[in-house]
Amino acid sequence: MKDHNEYLKAVGKYFGYPECCTNQFIHNHGEQRLARFKAGKGTGFVPCSAHAKEINDGDITLESLVINREHKFAFPYVNKNLFNEFINSLNK
Ligand SMILES: [Zn+2]
Repeated sequence: MKDHNEYLKAVGKYFGYPECCTNQFIHNHGEQRLARFKAGKGTGFVPCSAHAKEINDGDITLESLVINREHKFAFPYVNKNLFNEFINSLNK
C-alpha cells in the first residue's frame, strides 16, 4: 500500500473511527484543530469538526463514535504489538 491517504484510511477503519473524522484528518487537518483535539481527549483519535462540536457540547461521547473496531482491545487502549502487525500487513 503506497498511497499515504489510503494508509491513513485503513488505520482509521482498523481503529473503528468514522469515515467523516478520518477524511477531515486527511484533507483538512488544520480546521478547528484545537476543538477537535480537545474532543479527542488525547486518545489519538481526532474527531471531525461536526463530531467535535457534539462532543464538546456534551451531546454525544467520544467513545460512542468508535464502532466496528478491528483492533482487539477496547478504545482507547492500543496494543502496540497488534498495531505493528497490522501496519506490517499493510506494507505487504
Ligand atoms: Zn466525524
